[in-house]
Order: sequence, then structure tokens, then C-alpha cells
Amino acid sequence: MEREVLEFDVQFVGAGPAGLAGAIHLANLAAKQRETAAAAGATPLPELNIAVLEKSAEVGAHGISGAVMDPRALRELLPDYASQGCPIESEVTGDDVYILFERSAFRLPLVPPALQNHGNAVVSLGDLTRWLAKQAEDRGVLIATETPAQTPLLDGERVLGVRSGDKGVDKHGQRKPAFQPGADCLAKVTVLCEGPRGTLGKQLEERLGLTRDREPQVYATGVKELWEVPAGKAQKGRVLHTMNWPLPASTFGGGFIYGLSDSLWYVGFVTGLDARDPTSDPHGNLQRFKTHPLVSALLEGGKPLSYGAKAIPEGGWYAIPRLYADGLLLAGDTAGFLNGGRLKGIHLAIKSGMLAAEQVFDCLLANDFSAAKLAGYEKRVAESWAGAELKGMRNFHQAFDGGLWAALPRTGFQMIMGGLDPLGDHLKGHAGHERMAKLRDVHPGGKPAPLKADGKLTFDKLADVYLSGTLHEEDQPVHLLVADTSVCATKCREEYGNPCQHFCPASVYEMVPDPAKEGALKLQINASNCVHCKTCDIADPYQIITWVTPEGGGGPNYKRL
Ligand code: SF4
Repeated sequence: MEREVLEFDVQFVGAGPAGLAGAIHLANLAAKQRETAAAAGATPLPELNIAVLEKSAEVGAHGISGAVMDPRALRELLPDYASQGCPIESEVTGDDVYILFERSAFRLPLVPPALQNHGNAVVSLGDLTRWLAKQAEDRGVLIATETPAQTPLLDGERVLGVRSGDKGVDKHGQRKPAFQPGADCLAKVTVLCEGPRGTLGKQLEERLGLTRDREPQVYATGVKELWEVPAGKAQKGRVLHTMNWPLPASTFGGGFIYGLSDSLWYVGFVTGLDARDPTSDPHGNLQRFKTHPLVSALLEGGKPLSYGAKAIPEGGWYAIPRLYADGLLLAGDTAGFLNGGRLKGIHLAIKSGMLAAEQVFDCLLANDFSAAKLAGYEKRVAESWAGAELKGMRNFHQAFDGGLWAALPRTGFQMIMGGLDPLGDHLKGHAGHERMAKLRDVHPGGKPAPLKADGKLTFDKLADVYLSGTLHEEDQPVHLLVADTSVCATKCREEYGNPCQHFCPASVYEMVPDPAKEGALKLQINASNCVHCKTCDIADPYQIITWVTPEGGGGPNYKRL
């Protein structure tokens, strides 16, 4: 088969904040070098061929985050972002933190410093990345949408580029008349910014040993709805965070409500994927959260407009993998640039993309793209404010190992002591799936009854999937690869009660009667519902689910998330 070969100087995989910021910053650095070199009679860099590869049909369609953004990195990237029309929904006008109990709420008299949002802004990540993509294109960057980077291309341990997925393959793996082979996208440096648990990142971590001697990454899943309420019922710029209910105190996570305008709220919930309970259900937790009197009062008379979900890397500083290899850098969520204590990652994604661009720029000047030269990126990260911020929270997630009530004084201590925990300075992490307990140990009497959605305040997964706008070509290979489905029908059913049915926020996994065997169940994968959150790849207790990129352009079509 003949494949198109595309050659770039530098390619960023993923048009999220890290990839787009990296592309913009590199284009700016190169333009400045050409200007100063010309003035000084030195050799200017040739015009760079910079690309951003994106799997969605349109930049921003797969973009979702809380999101209250710290504008520090954006200000460094594009100092005039506000006057250039950057889509900021609202400056934060007020912060509150509540501890929820089933029928009551306790408002903390003081908002902990890490959760203070004065000077930050409520944004839609999808809209922000659409705008960043325009800034990148204005600087000559190629944004290639419908281009899912599926396989890394290597020469030994050197990353040469990526191969994008084929188009026009049917569900049996046969070529359809409109078959188009994916392209080989080659670059001097490939910067992976494909979000949490990236397809290429996972393959390369194993192959190149990028996570050797690092703590395992630990994730949560965030689910979010955009609500329209009668005018005056929402408060522009209001930020609320909650802890505890409806989670048990042993499970990491919490709720958030952010005001976009006087009639729009973001309402979302984050559930740790290191929960013991195999029936832990991130979507169900959001639905329960909305039934709390504090939350339901804010949503009264309203309706949801949009829904989405995404995994969040919560492991912190010690879980960041080696960030470089020959021809390769990692940035953004792919590398775990997220401050779990501040509930923020966009500013770190942007900064990591910029630092990667600075390192690549040095490599271009030296014409050296070796691991030894690219290693300078780690030094840049460690010496930057982003590194200092992450080091200051280096033990944050580990403090929740003993549950919420133990974590509150411990994280308070950490914040005073610059990240030092009362139990040590480098606490061990854990992969979330290893903590999942057997069903009978958590629910000896059987699974708890699921919440019954009322279709007004609470919704079932399929109703929310509809609001995500997700759409895939139906006649294509399933993009959720389960290595051994007999495990689902036997061992997993017995031991964990098929947790995929609970942790997937889009009803992709269903156990249905097996016509071949009376009384038996078999796994049915409703792949077209998938919203690309990656939870299944992370949370499956047997680690036999692999999320691979579906045909380019498929997936959610998030609006204003
Ligand atoms: Fe998320 Fe996996 Fe469900 Fe897709 S199938 S929505 S990636 S949990």
C-alpha cells in the first residue's frame, strides 16, 4: 500500500492548549530569530514547517475542561490575548468551598489559598483552543484535523514521526471503496500533547521506558454539563467547589459549579479512578450531586445544553514521566502537567507547550534532535514557575490515600510547608486500578440500586451522550480493544461485577444475554457512544482494554465545554 509521506520540521500531536501553545511559541521564536539575524547579518533560520495533528473534525470539538483558567501562561504566550478577542467567559467574581453532607452543606469560612481564584477566568476549553488554532494558523502553522495519530514510527529508539489512521475500513477490517490509507507524518521532533492516557504516549512509555523510576500516574474522571437557567438564576464569574457527598470519604473527588453568565452554569463532578468501589460511577456521581439542595436550587427551571467527560491526570510531580527521547518530547496532560490541589491544568499545559517549543528551537539552531539535546526540556520545566508550582503540590494526591478527613489536615500542612507531607517528602503513588476492591468486599449484599433519572434534573447516560454530540462512522472496526472478552463473562463478572458498565460515562459497555449459552452474559461494546474520555483504558482492573483512535473526525462534538 502506498502511503503519503508528509515531512515537517516539528509536529505537535493534539490541538489542545499544550500543542497549540507550543506551535504558536515556536513560530514566534523563529520569526524573531529571522528578524534579529537579518539585522545582525547572521544566518536566519529557514521558514519552519510546523504542524499540529488533531483527530477531531474541528479544533475544539473534543476539548473539555472545568474550566477556571489561571491566565499566567496565556499572558506569556500572547500578552495581548484579551484585546485580540480571546474567548473568556467571565473573570472570577467570587469563590466558595463547601463540604457537602446528604441534606446539608457547610461553607468553609475561608477559601484555602490553593482554591482562591481571584484573577482567574471561567473559560470554555473548546472555544479557547478554537481561538488558539486561529492564532497558530495566522503564524503559518498547519492544523491537520481528522488526522488521528495512531502509531509511532521509530528507528530503534529514535522517534521519526507518527502514522495516522486509515479511513474507509469496514467493521470487519476490509477496505471500503472510499478507502484512504493514513499518512506517515515525519518530523525532526514530535511533541506529544494528545491528552491524558494518549494512544502514542502509552505505546512509547512502554517501548522507551519513559515511566521507569517514576511513580505511576493516577487519574480521576471529570464529567460536566452546561446548564441554561432562567435569566438571573446564574451568577457570572461565581465559582463553587465541593467535597465529600455524594462520594464516600474514602474516594477522591468533588463537585464544581462555575457561572458563565447570568443564565449559564457549568456543573461538573470529578471522581477518583483509584476508588475501592467497583460500582463507582463518575456520571452517576454528577447526577446525584445535582440532587443536593445547594445545587438543585441553582439549576431550578433550567435544562442541560451540553455534556462531556474526560480523564484527568492527578498523580503530580513524581508521576511525570521522562519527558524526552530521540526526536520526542511530551507536554500537557499526556505528561501529567496538572495541579490537582488547584484543580487546574490549562495554564500548565500552555506553559509546558511553550517550554517544549523553546527546547525545540534550541535544537533547530544546533541541528541536533538527540535525546541528549532534548533533555534540556526537563531542566527548563524544573527551573520554571510551572515546575515550582508542581513541586509545591508534589504529595497532594497521595495525602488522600487515607480518605478525605485525613487529607484535609495533611494537605493544609503541605501548603504551609511547600509540599512536604507530615509522612515524608516523596510519598509513593499507586495505579488506581490496583486499589479496586472485589465487589463482595464493598457490597456484600449486592450492587446498590442506581439513581433513577427524572429527565429534568438528572439524566441517564444515553440522554447525556446525545448532548455530547458524539458521532462515529458506524461501519468501522471497534476502537475499544478488549484483549480477552471471556474474562468479562467469567472472572470479571464474578470478582468485580463488570465495573466497565459503571465507570464508562457513555454507556459503551453493556453485559447482555449470551444467546450461545443459557444464563450467561457477554460483553457488548456500543463504540459509537464513546466520548473519548479514556476512563476504560485506565480503570479496567485487568488492564485488558485498549482505547485506539477511531476513524478521523469521529467522536464528540462538544459545544462550549
Ligand atoms: Fe470513555 Fe472508554 Fe467509555 Fe469511551 S468507552 S466513553 S473512552 S470509558
